[in-house]
Amino acid sequence: MVAPAIELNGKKLFLESYGCQMNFSDSEIVASILTGTGFETTRDFGQADVIFINTCSIRDNAEQRVRARLQDFKKLKKQNPGLIVGVLGCMAERLKAKFLEEEHLVDIVAGPDSYRDLPNLIERVESGQKALNVLLSREETYADISPVRLGSNGVTAFVSIMRGCDNMCAFCVVPFTRGRERSRDPESIVAETRELFNNGYREVTLLGQNVDSYLWWGGGQKKELEPETVHAALHHTLPADEQARYTTFADLLEKVAQIHPDLRVRFSTSNPRDMTDAVLHVMAKYENICKYIHLPVQSGSTRMLEKMNRGYTREQYIDRIESIRRILPGCGLSTDIISGFCSETEEDHQETLSLMEWAGYHFSYMFKYSERPGTAAAKQFADDISEEVKSRRLQEIVDLQQLLSAVRTKEGVGQTYRVLVEGPSKKSTEMLSGRNSQNTVVVFPKGDLKPGDYVNVKIDRCTAATLIGTVVSA
Ligand code: SAM
Repeated sequence: MVAPAIELNGKKLFLESYGCQMNFSDSEIVASILTGTGFETTRDFGQADVIFINTCSIRDNAEQRVRARLQDFKKLKKQNPGLIVGVLGCMAERLKAKFLEEEHLVDIVAGPDSYRDLPNLIERVESGQKALNVLLSREETYADISPVRLGSNGVTAFVSIMRGCDNMCAFCVVPFTRGRERSRDPESIVAETRELFNNGYREVTLLGQNVDSYLWWGGGQKKELEPETVHAALHHTLPADEQARYTTFADLLEKVAQIHPDLRVRFSTSNPRDMTDAVLHVMAKYENICKYIHLPVQSGSTRMLEKMNRGYTREQYIDRIESIRRILPGCGLSTDIISGFCSETEEDHQETLSLMEWAGYHFSYMFKYSERPGTAAAKQFADDISEEVKSRRLQEIVDLQQLLSAVRTKEGVGQTYRVLVEGPSKKSTEMLSGRNSQNTVVVFPKGDLKPGDYVNVKIDRCTAATLIGTVVSA
Protein backbone atom coordinates (compact mmCIF):
# COMPACT_ATOMS: atom_id res chain seq x y z
CA MET A 1 0.00 0.00 0.00
CA VAL A 2 1.36 3.44 -0.93
CA ALA A 3 0.14 6.40 1.09
CA PRO A 4 0.37 9.81 -0.57
CA ALA A 5 1.41 12.87 1.43
CA ILE A 6 -1.71 14.77 0.37
CA GLU A 7 -5.26 14.42 1.73
CA LEU A 8 -6.81 11.04 0.90
CA ASN A 9 -10.08 10.88 -1.02
CA GLY A 10 -11.03 7.53 0.57
CA LYS A 11 -10.78 5.70 -2.76
CA LYS A 12 -8.60 2.79 -3.70
CA LEU A 13 -6.86 2.09 -7.00
CA PHE A 14 -5.93 -1.39 -8.26
CA LEU A 15 -3.42 -1.39 -11.11
CA GLU A 16 -2.38 -4.41 -13.14
CA SER A 17 0.26 -4.35 -15.90
CA TYR A 18 0.89 -6.59 -18.90
CA GLY A 19 3.67 -6.66 -21.48
CA CYS A 20 7.00 -4.89 -21.58
CA GLN A 21 8.99 -3.19 -18.81
CA MET A 22 7.91 0.13 -20.27
CA ASN A 23 4.32 -0.68 -19.32
CA PHE A 24 5.29 -1.52 -15.74
CA SER A 25 7.19 1.75 -15.60
CA ASP A 26 4.17 3.65 -17.00
CA SER A 27 1.95 2.14 -14.30
CA GLU A 28 4.23 3.77 -11.72
CA ILE A 29 3.55 7.12 -13.40
CA VAL A 30 -0.20 6.42 -13.33
CA ALA A 31 0.03 5.54 -9.62
CA SER A 32 1.88 8.80 -9.00
CA ILE A 33 -0.75 10.87 -10.83
CA LEU A 34 -3.64 9.26 -8.96
CA THR A 35 -2.07 9.18 -5.50
CA GLY A 36 -1.45 12.87 -6.14
CA THR A 37 -5.23 13.34 -6.24
CA GLY A 38 -5.85 11.38 -3.03
CA PHE A 39 -6.11 7.74 -4.13
CA GLU A 40 -4.45 4.91 -2.22
CA THR A 41 -3.17 1.89 -4.15
CA THR A 42 -4.34 -1.60 -3.20
CA ARG A 43 -3.12 -5.08 -4.17
CA ASP A 44 -6.62 -6.53 -3.70
CA PHE A 45 -8.94 -5.77 -6.62
CA GLY A 46 -11.92 -6.72 -4.43
CA GLN A 47 -11.22 -3.54 -2.40
CA ALA A 48 -10.82 -1.23 -5.38
CA ASP A 49 -12.99 1.72 -6.42
CA VAL A 50 -10.99 2.03 -9.65
CA ILE A 51 -9.38 -0.83 -11.56
CA PHE A 52 -6.88 0.00 -14.30
CA ILE A 53 -5.36 -2.62 -16.59
CA ASN A 54 -2.27 -1.40 -18.43
CA THR A 55 -2.35 -3.45 -21.61
CA CYS A 56 -0.05 -4.81 -24.31
CA SER A 57 -0.80 -5.22 -28.04
CA ILE A 58 2.48 -6.67 -29.22
CA ARG A 59 1.02 -10.10 -30.06
CA ASP A 60 -2.56 -11.32 -30.33
CA ASN A 61 -2.22 -13.61 -27.30
CA ALA A 62 -1.27 -10.58 -25.13
CA GLU A 63 -4.59 -8.99 -26.10
CA GLN A 64 -6.53 -12.22 -25.48
CA ARG A 65 -5.06 -12.41 -21.96
CA VAL A 66 -6.40 -8.91 -21.20
CA ARG A 67 -9.86 -9.80 -22.54
CA ALA A 68 -9.93 -12.90 -20.33
CA ARG A 69 -8.86 -10.86 -17.31
CA LEU A 70 -11.70 -8.38 -17.87
CA GLN A 71 -14.14 -11.26 -17.32
CA ASP A 72 -12.84 -11.55 -13.73
CA PHE A 73 -13.96 -7.97 -13.09
CA LYS A 74 -17.47 -8.48 -14.55
CA LYS A 75 -18.85 -10.17 -11.44
CA LEU A 76 -17.33 -7.53 -9.22
CA LYS A 77 -18.95 -4.79 -11.22
CA LYS A 78 -22.36 -6.48 -10.91
CA GLN A 79 -22.00 -6.44 -7.11
CA ASN A 80 -20.63 -2.89 -7.13
CA PRO A 81 -22.02 -0.87 -10.06
CA GLY A 82 -19.98 2.18 -8.92
CA LEU A 83 -16.72 0.33 -9.64
CA ILE A 84 -14.75 2.05 -12.44
CA VAL A 85 -12.83 -0.17 -14.86
CA GLY A 86 -10.28 1.46 -17.16
CA VAL A 87 -8.11 0.06 -19.92
CA LEU A 88 -4.79 1.86 -20.40
CA GLY A 89 -1.80 1.50 -22.70
CA CYS A 90 -1.23 -0.02 -26.10
CA MET A 91 -4.46 -1.99 -26.49
CA ALA A 92 -6.45 1.12 -25.53
CA GLU A 93 -4.56 3.14 -28.13
CA ARG A 94 -5.00 0.48 -30.82
CA LEU A 95 -8.71 -0.14 -30.34
CA LYS A 96 -9.81 3.34 -29.16
CA ALA A 97 -13.62 3.74 -28.94
CA LYS A 98 -14.09 0.23 -30.31
CA PHE A 99 -13.02 -1.03 -26.90
CA LEU A 100 -15.96 0.69 -25.24
CA GLU A 101 -18.31 -0.88 -27.79
CA GLU A 102 -16.82 -4.37 -27.48
CA GLU A 103 -16.34 -4.56 -23.70
CA HIS A 104 -19.36 -3.06 -21.98
CA LEU A 105 -17.88 -3.16 -18.49
CA VAL A 106 -15.05 -0.81 -19.51
CA ASP A 107 -15.63 2.84 -18.49
CA ILE A 108 -12.30 4.45 -19.43
CA VAL A 109 -10.01 3.95 -22.41
CA ALA A 110 -6.75 5.89 -22.12
CA GLY A 111 -3.69 5.71 -24.39
CA PRO A 112 -0.06 5.94 -23.18
CA ASP A 113 0.20 9.73 -23.64
CA SER A 114 -3.00 10.66 -21.78
CA TYR A 115 -2.27 9.63 -18.20
CA ARG A 116 -2.25 13.21 -16.88
CA ASP A 117 -5.90 13.32 -17.94
CA LEU A 118 -6.91 10.27 -15.85
CA PRO A 119 -8.31 12.29 -12.89
CA ASN A 120 -10.61 14.13 -15.34
CA LEU A 121 -11.58 10.90 -17.07
CA ILE A 122 -12.54 9.39 -13.70
CA GLU A 123 -14.66 12.46 -12.92
CA ARG A 124 -16.41 12.12 -16.25
CA VAL A 125 -17.30 8.50 -15.46
CA GLU A 126 -18.52 9.51 -11.99
CA SER A 127 -20.91 11.91 -13.71
CA GLY A 128 -22.38 9.01 -15.65
CA GLN A 129 -20.48 9.02 -18.96
CA LYS A 130 -17.90 6.79 -20.59
CA ALA A 131 -14.48 8.43 -21.04
CA LEU A 132 -11.88 8.18 -23.80
CA ASN A 133 -8.53 9.88 -24.41
CA VAL A 134 -6.23 8.30 -26.97
CA LEU A 135 -4.44 11.40 -28.25
CA LEU A 136 -0.77 10.78 -28.94
CA SER A 137 1.53 13.62 -27.98
CA ARG A 138 4.50 15.30 -29.65
CA GLU A 139 6.22 16.14 -26.36
CA GLU A 140 4.89 14.08 -23.46
CA THR A 141 7.65 12.29 -21.53
CA TYR A 142 6.21 12.62 -17.99
CA ALA A 143 9.63 14.07 -17.12
CA ASP A 144 8.37 15.97 -14.07
CA ILE A 145 6.43 13.08 -12.54
CA SER A 146 8.11 11.15 -9.76
CA PRO A 147 6.93 7.54 -10.19
CA VAL A 148 5.41 5.66 -7.25
CA ARG A 149 7.47 2.44 -7.08
CA LEU A 150 4.94 -0.41 -7.24
CA GLY A 151 5.85 -3.91 -6.03
CA SER A 152 9.40 -2.68 -5.48
CA ASN A 153 12.17 -4.63 -3.75
CA GLY A 154 13.68 -1.27 -2.73
CA VAL A 155 16.91 -2.11 -4.60
CA THR A 156 16.19 -2.10 -8.35
CA ALA A 157 14.07 0.38 -10.34
CA PHE A 158 13.18 1.30 -13.91
CA VAL A 159 13.74 4.81 -15.22
CA SER A 160 12.08 5.74 -18.49
CA ILE A 161 14.38 7.81 -20.75
CA MET A 162 12.28 8.15 -23.88
CA ARG A 163 8.88 7.32 -25.33
CA GLY A 164 7.56 6.01 -28.63
CA CYS A 165 9.48 4.52 -31.53
CA ASP A 166 10.35 5.65 -35.07
CA ASN A 167 11.82 2.40 -36.32
CA MET A 168 8.77 1.14 -38.16
CA CYS A 169 9.75 -2.53 -38.08
CA ALA A 170 7.22 -4.11 -40.44
CA PHE A 171 5.85 -6.54 -37.82
CA CYS A 172 5.57 -4.11 -34.91
CA VAL A 173 2.57 -2.23 -33.58
CA VAL A 174 4.56 -0.03 -31.14
CA PRO A 175 4.92 3.11 -33.35
CA PHE A 176 1.12 3.12 -33.73
CA THR A 177 0.31 2.55 -30.06
CA ARG A 178 3.08 4.58 -28.40
CA GLY A 179 3.55 7.29 -31.00
CA ARG A 180 6.70 8.88 -32.37
CA GLU A 181 10.02 8.85 -30.58
CA ARG A 182 10.68 11.56 -27.98
CA SER A 183 13.61 11.71 -25.57
CA ARG A 184 13.34 12.88 -22.00
CA ASP A 185 15.38 15.76 -20.54
CA PRO A 186 18.66 14.23 -19.26
CA GLU A 187 18.63 16.47 -16.17
CA SER A 188 15.29 15.00 -15.08
CA ILE A 189 16.63 11.46 -15.66
CA VAL A 190 19.73 12.17 -13.57
CA ALA A 191 17.63 13.83 -10.83
CA GLU A 192 15.20 10.87 -10.64
CA THR A 193 18.09 8.40 -10.55
CA ARG A 194 19.98 10.36 -7.86
CA GLU A 195 16.84 10.41 -5.72
CA LEU A 196 16.50 6.64 -6.13
CA PHE A 197 20.11 6.19 -4.99
CA ASN A 198 19.56 8.49 -2.00
CA ASN A 199 16.50 6.39 -1.10
CA GLY A 200 18.57 3.20 -0.95
CA TYR A 201 18.13 1.88 -4.51
CA ARG A 202 21.31 0.37 -5.95
CA GLU A 203 20.38 -0.47 -9.54
CA VAL A 204 18.51 1.38 -12.28
CA THR A 205 17.47 0.11 -15.71
CA LEU A 206 17.17 2.92 -18.27
CA LEU A 207 14.20 2.13 -20.47
CA GLY A 208 13.27 2.92 -24.06
CA GLN A 209 12.12 1.00 -27.15
CA ASN A 210 15.48 1.85 -28.74
CA VAL A 211 17.80 3.44 -26.17
CA ASP A 212 20.66 3.83 -28.66
CA SER A 213 18.63 6.34 -30.57
CA TYR A 214 18.13 8.57 -27.48
CA LEU A 215 18.84 12.18 -28.45
CA TRP A 216 18.19 15.35 -26.46
CA TRP A 217 18.57 18.83 -27.92
CA GLY A 218 15.94 20.64 -25.89
CA GLY A 219 12.90 18.49 -26.57
CA GLY A 220 10.52 17.46 -29.32
CA GLN A 221 10.09 14.57 -31.72
CA LYS A 222 13.24 13.26 -33.33
CA LYS A 223 11.63 13.20 -36.76
CA GLU A 224 11.64 17.02 -36.65
CA LEU A 225 15.43 16.93 -37.17
CA GLU A 226 17.16 16.25 -40.49
CA PRO A 227 18.10 12.53 -40.69
CA GLU A 228 21.74 13.47 -41.53
CA THR A 229 21.97 15.64 -38.40
CA VAL A 230 20.53 12.84 -36.25
CA HIS A 231 23.01 10.35 -37.71
CA ALA A 232 25.98 12.67 -37.17
CA ALA A 233 24.89 13.59 -33.64
CA LEU A 234 24.34 9.93 -32.65
CA HIS A 235 27.77 9.01 -34.01
CA HIS A 236 29.46 12.04 -32.39
CA THR A 237 30.78 13.28 -35.75
CA LEU A 238 29.46 16.88 -35.64
CA PRO A 239 31.94 19.75 -35.09
CA ALA A 240 32.57 20.00 -31.31
CA ASP A 241 30.54 23.17 -30.74
CA GLU A 242 27.53 21.71 -32.58
CA GLN A 243 27.86 18.29 -30.94
CA ALA A 244 27.77 20.02 -27.55
CA ARG A 245 24.11 20.94 -28.20
CA TYR A 246 23.15 17.25 -28.18
CA THR A 247 23.03 14.59 -25.48
CA THR A 248 23.33 11.08 -26.94
CA PHE A 249 22.72 7.79 -25.15
CA ALA A 250 26.50 7.43 -24.60
CA ASP A 251 26.53 10.88 -22.93
CA LEU A 252 23.47 10.07 -20.83
CA LEU A 253 24.85 6.71 -19.73
CA GLU A 254 28.03 8.44 -18.55
CA LYS A 255 26.07 11.07 -16.59
CA VAL A 256 24.01 8.36 -14.85
CA ALA A 257 27.06 6.18 -14.14
CA GLN A 258 28.78 9.15 -12.48
CA ILE A 259 26.01 9.55 -9.88
CA HIS A 260 27.73 7.01 -7.61
CA PRO A 261 30.05 4.02 -8.14
CA ASP A 262 27.71 1.89 -5.97
CA LEU A 263 24.81 2.49 -8.31
CA ARG A 264 24.54 -0.20 -10.96
CA VAL A 265 23.27 0.90 -14.35
CA ARG A 266 21.50 -1.31 -16.89
CA PHE A 267 19.53 -0.40 -20.00
CA SER A 268 17.03 -1.90 -22.42
CA THR A 269 16.42 -2.22 -25.35
CA SER A 270 19.38 -1.75 -27.68
CA ASN A 271 18.85 -1.80 -31.42
CA PRO A 272 21.62 -3.11 -33.70
CA ARG A 273 20.92 -0.40 -36.27
CA ASP A 274 21.78 2.41 -33.83
CA MET A 275 24.15 0.91 -31.25
CA THR A 276 27.41 2.85 -31.55
CA ASP A 277 30.88 1.95 -30.30
CA ALA A 278 30.69 5.16 -28.22
CA VAL A 279 28.12 3.42 -25.98
CA LEU A 280 30.37 0.35 -25.67
CA HIS A 281 33.37 2.53 -24.71
CA VAL A 282 31.36 4.26 -21.96
CA MET A 283 30.31 0.81 -20.71
CA ALA A 284 33.97 -0.25 -20.63
CA LYS A 285 35.00 2.91 -18.76
CA TYR A 286 32.59 2.50 -15.83
CA GLU A 287 32.69 -0.58 -13.61
CA ASN A 288 29.14 0.16 -12.40
CA ILE A 289 27.59 -0.06 -15.90
CA CYS A 290 26.58 -3.71 -16.11
CA LYS A 291 28.25 -5.76 -18.81
CA TYR A 292 25.08 -7.06 -20.35
CA ILE A 293 23.37 -6.11 -23.62
CA HIS A 294 19.96 -7.15 -24.88
CA LEU A 295 20.36 -6.91 -28.65
CA PRO A 296 17.24 -8.16 -30.48
CA VAL A 297 18.14 -9.82 -33.80
CA GLN A 298 14.63 -11.08 -34.80
CA SER A 299 16.05 -13.25 -37.62
CA GLY A 300 19.42 -14.51 -38.84
CA SER A 301 18.47 -14.09 -42.49
CA THR A 302 19.29 -10.85 -44.31
CA ARG A 303 16.30 -11.42 -46.60
CA MET A 304 13.96 -11.57 -43.59
CA LEU A 305 15.66 -8.61 -41.87
CA GLU A 306 15.13 -6.52 -45.00
CA LYS A 307 11.49 -7.53 -45.17
CA MET A 308 11.11 -6.72 -41.48
CA ASN A 309 12.65 -3.26 -42.16
CA ARG A 310 15.13 -3.78 -39.33
CA GLY A 311 17.79 -1.58 -40.95
CA TYR A 312 20.71 -4.04 -40.69
CA THR A 313 21.94 -7.20 -42.38
CA ARG A 314 23.13 -10.44 -40.79
CA GLU A 315 26.71 -9.26 -41.39
CA GLN A 316 26.11 -5.87 -39.78
CA TYR A 317 24.56 -7.58 -36.74
CA ILE A 318 27.60 -9.87 -36.49
CA ASP A 319 29.83 -6.79 -36.73
CA ARG A 320 28.01 -5.24 -33.72
CA ILE A 321 28.60 -8.39 -31.65
CA GLU A 322 32.25 -8.46 -32.70
CA SER A 323 32.57 -4.87 -31.43
CA ILE A 324 30.94 -5.89 -28.14
CA ARG A 325 33.38 -8.77 -27.75
CA ARG A 326 36.37 -6.59 -28.60
CA ILE A 327 35.46 -3.65 -26.35
CA LEU A 328 33.65 -5.58 -23.57
CA PRO A 329 35.11 -9.10 -23.30
CA GLY A 330 32.82 -11.40 -21.29
CA CYS A 331 29.75 -9.18 -21.79
CA GLY A 332 26.42 -11.04 -21.35
CA LEU A 333 24.27 -11.07 -24.46
CA SER A 334 20.57 -11.80 -25.02
CA THR A 335 18.18 -11.36 -27.91
CA ASP A 336 14.61 -11.48 -29.26
CA ILE A 337 13.72 -13.87 -32.10
CA ILE A 338 10.56 -14.18 -34.19
CA SER A 339 9.78 -17.47 -35.93
CA GLY A 340 7.64 -17.74 -39.05
CA PHE A 341 7.62 -14.15 -40.30
CA CYS A 342 5.98 -13.70 -43.73
CA SER A 343 7.50 -15.98 -46.42
CA GLU A 344 10.21 -17.37 -44.08
CA THR A 345 11.79 -20.44 -45.70
CA GLU A 346 13.58 -23.38 -44.08
CA GLU A 347 16.87 -21.77 -45.23
CA ASP A 348 15.97 -18.48 -43.51
CA HIS A 349 15.12 -20.44 -40.36
CA GLN A 350 18.42 -22.34 -40.51
CA GLU A 351 20.22 -18.98 -40.73
CA THR A 352 18.53 -17.92 -37.50
CA LEU A 353 19.69 -21.13 -35.79
CA SER A 354 23.24 -20.75 -37.09
CA LEU A 355 23.43 -17.11 -35.95
CA MET A 356 22.18 -18.10 -32.50
CA GLU A 357 24.89 -20.74 -32.30
CA TRP A 358 27.56 -18.27 -33.42
CA ALA A 359 26.43 -15.62 -30.93
CA GLY A 360 26.01 -18.10 -28.05
CA TYR A 361 23.32 -16.00 -26.41
CA HIS A 362 23.00 -16.25 -22.63
CA PHE A 363 19.26 -15.87 -22.99
CA SER A 364 16.53 -15.23 -25.60
CA TYR A 365 12.92 -14.11 -25.75
CA MET A 366 11.39 -16.19 -28.53
CA PHE A 367 8.06 -15.64 -30.26
CA LYS A 368 5.88 -16.91 -33.08
CA TYR A 369 5.05 -14.17 -35.56
CA SER A 370 1.64 -12.68 -34.82
CA GLU A 371 0.18 -10.41 -37.48
CA ARG A 372 -0.84 -7.03 -36.04
CA PRO A 373 -3.51 -4.97 -37.79
CA GLY A 374 -2.28 -1.72 -39.33
CA THR A 375 1.41 -2.68 -39.50
CA ALA A 376 3.36 -2.61 -42.78
CA ALA A 377 3.59 -6.41 -42.76
CA ALA A 378 -0.18 -6.77 -42.34
CA LYS A 379 -0.73 -4.39 -45.26
CA GLN A 380 1.96 -5.67 -47.62
CA PHE A 381 2.67 -9.34 -46.94
CA ALA A 382 0.69 -12.53 -46.52
CA ASP A 383 0.94 -14.18 -43.10
CA ASP A 384 1.68 -17.36 -45.02
CA ILE A 385 3.59 -19.62 -42.62
CA SER A 386 1.24 -22.18 -41.09
CA GLU A 387 0.77 -22.35 -37.30
CA GLU A 388 2.26 -25.82 -37.39
CA VAL A 389 5.47 -24.67 -39.09
CA LYS A 390 5.75 -21.55 -36.89
CA SER A 391 5.41 -23.74 -33.79
CA ARG A 392 7.91 -26.33 -34.96
CA ARG A 393 10.49 -23.66 -35.85
CA LEU A 394 9.91 -21.89 -32.55
CA GLN A 395 10.46 -25.18 -30.71
CA GLU A 396 13.77 -25.67 -32.53
CA ILE A 397 14.82 -22.16 -31.54
CA VAL A 398 13.79 -22.76 -27.90
CA ASP A 399 15.62 -26.12 -27.78
CA LEU A 400 18.81 -24.57 -29.16
CA GLN A 401 18.61 -21.65 -26.73
CA GLN A 402 18.31 -24.08 -23.82
CA LEU A 403 21.56 -25.73 -24.87
CA LEU A 404 23.31 -22.37 -25.32
CA SER A 405 22.06 -21.06 -21.94
CA ALA A 406 23.23 -24.22 -20.20
CA VAL A 407 26.73 -23.81 -21.70
CA ARG A 408 26.85 -20.12 -20.67
CA THR A 409 25.67 -20.84 -17.14
CA LYS A 410 28.23 -23.65 -16.71
CA GLU A 411 31.02 -21.27 -17.75
CA GLY A 412 30.27 -19.40 -14.51
CA VAL A 413 31.18 -22.34 -12.25
CA GLY A 414 34.52 -21.66 -10.52
CA GLN A 415 34.30 -17.90 -11.21
CA THR A 416 33.84 -15.21 -8.54
CA TYR A 417 31.26 -12.49 -9.25
CA ARG A 418 30.28 -9.25 -7.59
CA VAL A 419 26.56 -9.59 -6.88
CA LEU A 420 24.00 -7.03 -5.78
CA VAL A 421 21.71 -8.62 -3.17
CA GLU A 422 18.09 -8.22 -4.29
CA GLY A 423 16.09 -10.38 -1.85
CA PRO A 424 15.31 -13.92 -0.68
CA SER A 425 15.82 -16.71 -3.19
CA LYS A 426 12.68 -18.31 -4.64
CA LYS A 427 13.41 -21.76 -3.24
CA SER A 428 14.85 -21.26 0.27
CA THR A 429 14.46 -18.69 3.03
CA GLU A 430 18.06 -19.46 4.06
CA MET A 431 19.37 -18.24 0.70
CA LEU A 432 19.51 -14.84 -0.96
CA SER A 433 19.39 -14.00 -4.63
CA GLY A 434 20.89 -11.29 -6.82
CA ARG A 435 22.48 -10.95 -10.26
CA ASN A 436 26.00 -10.61 -11.52
CA SER A 437 26.97 -7.86 -13.93
CA GLN A 438 26.10 -10.15 -16.89
CA ASN A 439 22.52 -10.46 -15.56
CA THR A 440 22.69 -14.12 -14.49
CA VAL A 441 20.85 -14.95 -11.25
CA VAL A 442 23.20 -15.92 -8.40
CA VAL A 443 21.99 -17.65 -5.20
CA PHE A 444 24.05 -17.83 -1.97
CA PRO A 445 23.63 -18.32 1.82
CA LYS A 446 21.99 -15.44 3.65
CA GLY A 447 24.47 -14.84 6.49
CA ASP A 448 24.11 -11.27 7.77
CA LEU A 449 23.50 -9.83 4.34
CA LYS A 450 20.54 -7.68 3.34
CA PRO A 451 19.04 -6.39 0.08
CA GLY A 452 21.14 -3.55 -1.35
CA ASP A 453 24.48 -5.01 -0.15
CA TYR A 454 27.20 -6.01 -2.62
CA VAL A 455 28.97 -9.35 -2.13
CA ASN A 456 31.56 -11.41 -3.92
CA VAL A 457 30.26 -14.91 -4.57
CA LYS A 458 32.40 -17.86 -5.69
CA ILE A 459 30.28 -20.14 -7.86
CA ASP A 460 30.28 -23.81 -6.78
CA ARG A 461 27.56 -25.25 -9.01
CA CYS A 462 24.65 -24.30 -11.25
CA THR A 463 21.21 -25.27 -12.49
CA ALA A 464 20.12 -24.50 -16.08
CA ALA A 465 19.85 -20.75 -15.51
CA THR A 466 21.05 -20.08 -11.94
CA LEU A 467 24.52 -19.92 -10.41
CA ILE A 468 24.86 -21.16 -6.82
CA GLY A 469 27.84 -20.23 -4.66
CA THR A 470 29.40 -19.12 -1.39
CA VAL A 471 30.20 -15.63 -0.22
CA VAL A 472 33.95 -15.08 -0.28
CA SER A 473 34.12 -11.48 0.90
CA ALA A 474 31.69 -8.65 1.39
N1 SAM B 1 12.07 -2.12 -29.44
C1 SAM B 1 12.68 -3.39 -29.34
C2 SAM B 1 13.24 -3.78 -30.71
O1 SAM B 1 12.73 -3.36 -31.72
O2 SAM B 1 14.21 -4.50 -30.77
C3 SAM B 1 11.69 -4.40 -28.72
C4 SAM B 1 10.23 -4.20 -29.04
S1 SAM B 1 8.98 -5.35 -28.59
C5 SAM B 1 8.25 -4.57 -27.25
C6 SAM B 1 9.67 -6.78 -27.95
C7 SAM B 1 9.75 -7.92 -28.93
O3 SAM B 1 8.49 -8.42 -29.30
C8 SAM B 1 10.40 -7.59 -30.25
O4 SAM B 1 11.79 -7.47 -30.15
C9 SAM B 1 9.97 -8.75 -31.12
O5 SAM B 1 10.84 -9.85 -31.02
C10 SAM B 1 8.62 -9.13 -30.52
N2 SAM B 1 7.52 -8.75 -31.42
C11 SAM B 1 7.16 -7.51 -31.79
N3 SAM B 1 6.13 -7.57 -32.67
C12 SAM B 1 5.83 -8.89 -32.84
C13 SAM B 1 4.87 -9.58 -33.64
N4 SAM B 1 4.03 -8.95 -34.42
N5 SAM B 1 4.84 -10.93 -33.54
C14 SAM B 1 5.72 -11.60 -32.75
N6 SAM B 1 6.64 -10.98 -31.98
C15 SAM B 1 6.71 -9.64 -32.04
